[in-house]
Amino acid sequence: MPTPPGIAYINQEYVPVEDAKISVLDWGFLHSDATYDVVHVWKQRFFRLNDHIDRFLESARRIHLELPVGRSELGRILAECVSRSGHEDAYVEMILTRGASPTFSRDPRDAENKLICFAIPFGWILRPDQRETGLSIAISELQRIPPESVDPRVKNYHWLDFVMGLYDAYDRGAENVILKDASGNLTEGPGFNVFVVDGQTLSTPKRGVLEGITRRTAIELARKLNFQVEERDVQTDELSKADEAFATSTAGGIMPITRINNASVGDGRAGPITKRLIEAYWEKHNHPDWSVGVAEILSQK
Ligand code: PLP
Repeated sequence: MPTPPGIAYINQEYVPVEDAKISVLDWGFLHSDATYDVVHVWKQRFFRLNDHIDRFLESARRIHLELPVGRSELGRILAECVSRSGHEDAYVEMILTRGASPTFSRDPRDAENKLICFAIPFGWILRPDQRETGLSIAISELQRIPPESVDPRVKNYHWLDFVMGLYDAYDRGAENVILKDASGNLTEGPGFNVFVVDGQTLSTPKRGVLEGITRRTAIELARKLNFQVEERDVQTDELSKADEAFATSTAGGIMPITRINNASVGDGRAGPITKRLIEAYWEKHNHPDWSVGVAEILSQK
């Protein structure tokens, strides 16, 4: 089957992404026993690379995985994948799996942790030409895996709750989904955090979610623009009654949510505060405080 064109780093080698293969005995494949992070490159510059690497290292630490290379070497590997891929704008993933053990031992400590990275073309949850129409989302009755079981701050592949939620959303005529927690609070969707806008105040779920880098960016930019931001429990009906709502993800940035459970959010179009944040977000992409050039990383000794 064709794959998006790109370059992967696996087994200490750079190979075309379609040739990057792992063992079926890898715990990452057998048990979703892995962590990962996704950073993007826009016009040959990584956006918030250090923050993504920080989160990746912290995720690994929390689940007892050890990165086989140092931090700066990881940065170089990612940059090398992008450079060799030739992509101007790229979706760049770093994965650390538990790995396989020589004896198929059931003790995770016997497995050899494995680093895999790849760069493929940038992918959008919502393309720029779809922004005005926005995302149509269903809030599923399916519960997000509780944070007491799998810590969502460790970016992970335990996605069956999201995937079943997506089927639920498709059945209800929506294109994407947000899951709730056991108390009925909103959590997040497959690959994105969520914000509701009420007047000049933005609110986003605080618990049971991945601490998204785009979420953090939206919070920082909104505060700079003098909006109030609250990280707290957010109820389902706050989303349906909001003036505006948006999703945040590395895969697309800040994306208007215009329909919830088949009803319009606000006037059903991308809202003015969301639009201001989208503008501010993309403006930061060539700012040296927020981004670093692929060539710059490769030129560092
Ligand atoms: N929530 C989940 C479950 C995710 O998988 C992701 C990203 O893939 C996000 C939120 C958004 O995080 P970020 O803004 O760092 O891409």
